[in-house]
Amino acid sequence: MLYMLVLPRLNIERIYKNFHVPTTPVDCGQHCAVHNPTGKPFCCDICQAVPVAYHPEWDYLKPNTTLWQPWRGDECPHEPTDPAPLQADLPDGMLFVACKGPVFCEREYRTVSCRQFPFFPYITSDFRFIGMAYDWDFESRCWILSNLDQVTSAYRQEFIETFDQLFNLWPEEMENYAMLSEDMREHFLTVKRRIPLLHRKGNFALVSPGNERCQTVQPNQFKKYGFYR
Ligand code: SF4
Ligand code: SF4
Repeated sequence: MLYMLVLPRLNIERIYKNFHVPTTPVDCGQHCAVHNPTGKPFCCDICQAVPVAYHPEWDYLKPNTTLWQPWRGDECPHEPTDPAPLQADLPDGMLFVACKGPVFCEREYRTVSCRQFPFFPYITSDFRFIGMAYDWDFESRCWILSNLDQVTSAYRQEFIETFDQLFNLWPEEMENYAMLSEDMREHFLTVKRRIPLLHRKGNFALVSPGNERCQTVQPNQFKKYGFYR
C-alpha cells in the first residue's frame, strides 16, 4: 500500500519572522571562519554541512529568492558526494539545499536549519521537548559550542516557541528529533559523557544519557573544544 505524507500547512513567512534573532550578541561566524581553510564559517561551507529545508519552506523560498538550489552533491569542489544515500536517510518532508555561499547570504531567507544550527530540540525518552541540545559532530569546529553562555535568552525563547508550534502542527517532526535525541544518548553513553543542554526553563544543564537525570550547572562548567580551548 502506498502512503502519501501529508505535510502541515506551515506559514513559513511567519516562522521566519518569529525566529530571526542572532544566536549570540557577537557574529559567531567571525570566530570560527578563521579556523576554516576556506575562510567560510563552518556551517555555511557546503563542504562541511549541507542545509535542509522543509518542502513547504522550499515552496516559499523558490519564488522569493535565488539564494537556494536543491543540493546536487557536486557543490564542494574537492569532495563531490553522491547525494542518493544521504537523501535516502533524510526524514520525509525535507530536501537538501545549497545556498550561493556566505557572501550572498540573505538573512531573511535563511532556512530553519540555518537558524537553528548548531542546535536541535532535545526530546526525552518519554517524549518531552525539554530544551536545546546540539550537533555534537561540530564540537571541535563551531565556536558557539565552546561558548554556550553566549547564547542569548531571546534566541533560546524564539527557538523553543518555533519548535513548540512546529510540533503542534506536525507531531511526526517531533518523532524525528526524538530519534536524533536517542542517537545522542547512545553516543554520549558510549563516550561516557553527559549531554549539555540549554533547558527550556532558562537554566543550563547536563543530562545523564542513561537515566536522563538533569543537573543544573553553571555555563562555565561546560567544556571547550578544538581550536577554542
Ligand atoms: S553557528 Fe557555529 S559554525 Fe556556524 S558560524 Fe556560528 S560558530 Fe561558526
Ligand atoms: S543561507 Fe546564509 S546562514 Fe544559511 S548556509 Fe547559506 S550563508 Fe549560511
